[in-house]
Amino acid sequence: MNAPFPPVLPTYNRTSLSFVAGEGAWLTEASGARYLDLTSGIAVNALGHAHPELVAVLTRQAQALWHVSNLYTIPAQEQLAQALVDATFADTVFFTNSGTEAAELALKMVRKYWYEAGEERPTILTFEGAFHGRSTGAIAAAGSDKMTKGFGPLMPGFKVLPWGDHDALTAALDDSVAAVMLEPVQGEGGIRPLPDACLKGLRDACDRTGALLVLDEVQCGMGRTGRLFAHEWAGIAPDIMMVAKGIGGGFPLGAVLANARAASGMTAGTHGSTYGGNPLACAVGAKVVEIITAPGFLEDVRRKSANFRQSLEGLVAAHPEIFEGVRGQGLMLGLKCRAPAIDLVKAAQAQHLLTVPAADNVVRLLPPLTITEEELAEAVVRLDAAARTLA
Ligand SMILES: *Cc1c(COP(=O)(O)O)cnc(C)c1O
Repeated sequence: MNAPFPPVLPTYNRTSLSFVAGEGAWLTEASGARYLDLTSGIAVNALGHAHPELVAVLTRQAQALWHVSNLYTIPAQEQLAQALVDATFADTVFFTNSGTEAAELALKMVRKYWYEAGEERPTILTFEGAFHGRSTGAIAAAGSDKMTKGFGPLMPGFKVLPWGDHDALTAALDDSVAAVMLEPVQGEGGIRPLPDACLKGLRDACDRTGALLVLDEVQCGMGRTGRLFAHEWAGIAPDIMMVAKGIGGGFPLGAVLANARAASGMTAGTHGSTYGGNPLACAVGAKVVEIITAPGFLEDVRRKSANFRQSLEGLVAAHPEIFEGVRGQGLMLGLKCRAPAIDLVKAAQAQHLLTVPAADNVVRLLPPLTITEEELAEAVVRLDAAARTLA
């Protein structure tokens, strides 16, 4: 007899918690126990659980039409693309089902651009601590042992640089570089923001050599940092940008946004997707974009985040043996820990507060952007109680 193997491939290190319903920033177990959710499904449920307007638009679309394929024009897809073009640097948008697929297209777009330009540009620069997904291309781009070990031979053409090392970047960014790809705020890497001045400098350096600037805003985009996209803080624009997670509000949806120059090689037949830009996903995505770009929404995120951050600084000061500091921007915050971060995640869970561990011994706090001031205050009370149990 074969050894028993679980029916779900055991690639996840998950807890036994299981939820049957959600509303706003709260999740409910079958037992009725309620948890305050500062994970938002890892920055996915940007508008919280069961947002009434998203439920309505999804239900309406589900009753009208689910899927037709990209053989046909999809009105919701056109509408969402136009909204993203209007709100960003982009001239054009391709829809995917996930962040990983968006990363794959971003890489293909870079390769095709230089092929059409007739230039040999073999190298794409990426950074330590990066996360771009789990496909063969995305793991090669991030380059960490943890993701690549056992999956070789790896896709060639990436050079991984230390994070925030200006000299290493200057030395590497020559005429062989096709593109530089990075997250303006590293998520899985431990909420590590690139300072605005560095992002500006990087834009200038790319302009000097012609390299394309590719930003991965899968986690830090869609209002998470208090701007629609994180790069707006630095006053620059990328050439290509990956988006996913928050844009679907919980429905699988991703996108690649690009300017006309970067997209110029992607003609009919060069890329495609069966589900990408599906009517259900795009109907929801269009509503998410409408809500996040409505007047006042992002101001509200910034105001809440400033107060929350101040309370977290107080929490850190009250437990110097547990916490080292707060980092991040908007409602994409990290508690850098002295105690093992995973211990704090478990202690918080015991207080019915959900948080996400990240690399660099950081606990991520990614509440729904719609969370209330009262709920954020309650989260701090629960974090304080959790820290006390570890002291
Ligand atoms: C989650 C994530 C991805 C991968 O997205 P999937 O939807 O899981 O494929 C890529 N880049 C960043 C920055 C992410 O946080």
